[in-house]
Amino acid sequence: MNLKISALEYVQEVKNGNISAEDFMAKTLERIEKIDDKIHAFLHVNPEVLDHARVIDKKIKSGEKVGSCFGMPISIKDNICIKNARTSCASKMLHDFVAPYDATVISRLKKEDAIFVGKVNLDEFAMGLTTEFSAYGPTHNPWNTDYVPGGSSGGSGASVSSFECVASLGSDTGGSTRNPASFCGVVGYKPTYGLISRFGLISYANSIEQIGPVTRTVKDTAFMLNIISGKDAHDDTTVDNHNQDYLSEIELGVEGKKIGVIKEMMGEGIDPLVLSATQNAISKFENLGAICEEVSLDMVKYSVAAYYTITATEAGSNLARYDNLLYGYDFPVEGYEFNAYISKARTKFGPEVTRRMILGGFVPSAGHAGKYLLKALKVKQKLTEEIDQLFQKYDYLIAPTVPILPFKIGEKIDDPIALFLVDINTVTANLTGRPAISVPFSMANGLPIGMQIMANSMEDKALLQAAFALESTVTLPEVPI
Ligand code: GLN
Repeated sequence: MNLKISALEYVQEVKNGNISAEDFMAKTLERIEKIDDKIHAFLHVNPEVLDHARVIDKKIKSGEKVGSCFGMPISIKDNICIKNARTSCASKMLHDFVAPYDATVISRLKKEDAIFVGKVNLDEFAMGLTTEFSAYGPTHNPWNTDYVPGGSSGGSGASVSSFECVASLGSDTGGSTRNPASFCGVVGYKPTYGLISRFGLISYANSIEQIGPVTRTVKDTAFMLNIISGKDAHDDTTVDNHNQDYLSEIELGVEGKKIGVIKEMMGEGIDPLVLSATQNAISKFENLGAICEEVSLDMVKYSVAAYYTITATEAGSNLARYDNLLYGYDFPVEGYEFNAYISKARTKFGPEVTRRMILGGFVPSAGHAGKYLLKALKVKQKLTEEIDQLFQKYDYLIAPTVPILPFKIGEKIDDPIALFLVDINTVTANLTGRPAISVPFSMANGLPIGMQIMANSMEDKALLQAAFALESTVTLPEVPI
């Protein structure tokens, strides 16, 4: 049985009776069993998935109505709540936390008969971009297991690219679906802010983050969006997309479209191999009839600093709830004075999360806010104004998703500033609420390179059209694992 099929192909195969949901699931479990000790994408595999798959097959046989996912195995980043499943955020702090409810994305996928094959690894509380900051050990890049898979949704990227599931859900605060998609050679999506409900996503920096699909193809992302996007009564920041069909017209192409190539995302520090891949992507777009021009987005040079200031502030307040009284791990209170207990309990956070919380306490504090948080918010505002202007003239903005190639596990772990800078091309979409996608485009030294395309707010459908057009120009080799 071929596990290397897209979500849409899976649906077709099951519908046509060529494969059963149970057989596909059994093979998926075998694959996980065989390779996941090398990849470590999964934190937890759901032991009941075969039973679920059997139920789907039964429904099909008896002619009952079956949801559009037909029992498709999907992996879920472990900061998204599935009722009765452990949801650890890859943190020792939430080691024993079992979610009491389903995130909206989960209930919508359940309704369509998706099966959640397991919870996948991430940097603790989604803070990071290599998945090395997981309290349960790093995930490895399936293209070369010495390398990082990107992050923070590294488990999503690695599980999709190594055929341990058909698709995945990640979350993207500053690039966390797109970065691992780029490093693992799959598609990663960050929708317009508000397009997908955050209800049941454990917050890191909720004013800018979104859940997003990680898939093998652009069409699969459109398929997932059709299911999970749209207004949700549980999340007031969601927008009404009028049941937009993201798959219809996806093949429309980019003829006559205007594309801005962001100069500041291709400057100092870019790997020459990534630069030449980007130039190649520009020619591909031109061959497809688009008009590409270099554009400037001046505020990009301050975007990483602004991003880390704003996200640390939000993280500081969002993570204050983890006092080990409401949520936590087994650590009895006897013998502790109140504050001493909480201080001790909070030592379970890892070093990166602790660093962000200390920063997040400092940058908005009296006497310092003017110098840090308020300045960062001004940068966010200016960046948004600049991008508003660009989108009056251009349909899309492109740049490489990440300016460098995947690097070795351990190579940058002790250098937080170097790590922060890797986010230079992805944080703009979050700070400005715009949709962005990473499309696998090229290979160098046996490792994938992704191209990022951004569009204006609520132009997600048009964005997927451009992404599909670019994807159609490439064929990448098969992942060696
Ligand atoms: N690398 C960024 C950070 O650490 C982005 C993470 C994310 O998108 N969740 O904050």
